Amino acid sequence: MVQTKNTTSSAVIKYTTCPLCSSKNIQLTLATTDYSISKDGFEIYACGACDFHFTQNAPSPTSIAPYYQSDVYISHSDTKEGLVNRLYHTARELMLKKKSKLIQKLTTGKRLLDIGSGTGYFLNHMKQHGFKVIGVEIDGDARAATLKNFNIKVNPPPTFLEGQLTEKVDVITLWHVLEHLHDMDGYMQSMHRQLADDGVVLIAVPNHKSYDAQHYGKYWAAYDVPRHLWHFSPKTVAKLADKNGFKVVDQKRLPLDPFYNSLLSEKYQSSKLSLIFGGLIGLISLLVSYVNPSRSTSPIYILKKK
Ligand SMILES: [Zn+2]
Repeated sequence: MVQTKNTTSSAVIKYTTCPLCSSKNIQLTLATTDYSISKDGFEIYACGACDFHFTQNAPSPTSIAPYYQSDVYISHSDTKEGLVNRLYHTARELMLKKKSKLIQKLTTGKRLLDIGSGTGYFLNHMKQHGFKVIGVEIDGDARAATLKNFNIKVNPPPTFLEGQLTEKVDVITLWHVLEHLHDMDGYMQSMHRQLADDGVVLIAVPNHKSYDAQHYGKYWAAYDVPRHLWHFSPKTVAKLADKNGFKVVDQKRLPLDPFYNSLLSEKYQSSKLSLIFGGLIGLISLLVSYVNPSRSTSPIYILKKK
């Protein structure tokens, strides 16, 4: 990012250049709303040069915390209230197993770093599978919960970003985290430093080129403004990887993601038949992604060092 050209006031960051490629050719592409917490409106801009999409006038690192402070933000809480959350929790157990299997197919190494480790369920799952786990998490309450529930000590981001973790790792995972990170290049560079030369990085992020994203438009749940600062596609993930010394070597998917995104999008649309329509759109999206993986709702990108 060309810092001198993008101005950060105390509250918001107004981009005048593309945060990925620095082109000045950026323009409004979609107006949407923070349906889950603040109900504030936000604009998504697109870069005419590289097609990167990002949340314009996003809250700065020091002003974004209120947008996370809600029990409805289930990535940061453990509530089991409501159908969508119950589905989410059931899905989490299934997905932990899928993630673990995928990682063990990709590497025989046993040192794992999870960035944005939340309340530590994934770290604990991998620890139980014989991995030496390291977590990085910005939320102090989530770090405390990981220590209390799983006896795993998790690092705050500066410990990682300032290079204080000395041991190299074989696997780095970011499960729906990269899109939340203001300093995405700083993280990518720190990941490159921390990863063993034959290591792998797994990055799961929503894909705004997916069928469900295009069906729901501004109601698509995975825009999740302003918590999602960046809106990726396969093409822009590849560009970000290349810029930071990585290459995308493969792309996988988790089959429940399109259903989760579609059900939540129906809720934001105040649909009366959200289960039926959400299930249907989720199914179509999943089928479309089998035919065309570049339209998966939430791909898992597998990166290696160049
Ligand atoms: Zn660009």
